[in-house]
Amino acid sequence: MKTISTVYSELKDILRKLYSSREAENIAKIYFEDKYNIKSINDNIFPPEFSKIIIEDIERFKNGEPVQYITGKAFFYDNFFKVDSSVLIPRPETELLVDLAIKYAKNIKSPGIIDIGTGSGCIALSIAQKVTSSEILAIDISPAALKTANENKDFLQIRNVVFTRSDFLKKSERDGLGDFDMIVSNPPYISPVEKKYMTDSTLKFEPDIALFPDSSNHMIFYEKIIDFAENNLRKNGIVICEINEFRVKEIKDIVSVSSFKFDIIEDMQNKPRILKLWK
Ligand code: GLN
Repeated sequence: MKTISTVYSELKDILRKLYSSREAENIAKIYFEDKYNIKSINDNIFPPEFSKIIIEDIERFKNGEPVQYITGKAFFYDNFFKVDSSVLIPRPETELLVDLAIKYAKNIKSPGIIDIGTGSGCIALSIAQKVTSSEILAIDISPAALKTANENKDFLQIRNVVFTRSDFLKKSERDGLGDFDMIVSNPPYISPVEKKYMTDSTLKFEPDIALFPDSSNHMIFYEKIIDFAENNLRKNGIVICEINEFRVKEIKDIVSVSSFKFDIIEDMQNKPRILKLWK
């Protein structure tokens, strides 16, 4: 029988072939904690009932699959969210969007909020949990993503979010969504030419539909969000979107022909990351 530390080192050695040694350490740690609830690496026996699982998981690791899909969960803001290949793994920089949205929403009595392209629901559910007076409509085009989002809603026991299927790029569907105090979104914003900057594991395992707009125009979501906001944002309302760090000029070009004032906020890596719009 092997000890926890032996199994941990074996996994780390395998991961080192694919990742830097810091990343390998980090991934092994997340895997042990999130999959087996093993928080301390010591010389106790590695529970034998897990040995078959880890053999299968090692094959998935070797294939480059992200640890969050292997454990089935990702930590974001204050909670674990269920994730699978139908949804993007929540990114730490998106927590900034949630932070700004919560600060704003707390100043409104019963804020009506829409989350466009909700995926796992991590943005909508994090806001809903902290601003319990909010009513949030969260939409996505993908039924599989909505299923995952609803599982997260049930697991977190959140009531003030409704997940609905909608194709936001279709004007007829957009028009029926209603009016809101706040519009939030982390839309697909990568253009295919940027694939060279992305990791193999993102390209191979994360859903294209969440990353690349299905259109030759990679700014299409921002154009439609602003168009929607012109008609459906209530007085003193605000739009908060995640943006592509390489597309600031294009964002500014789009915003400059709208009636909104704007601000672009940097993430913890000092990359332009959040677009804020208001009147
Ligand atoms: N930030 C994500 C990435 O780098 C992309 C998120 C998105 O397209 N909305 O993979």
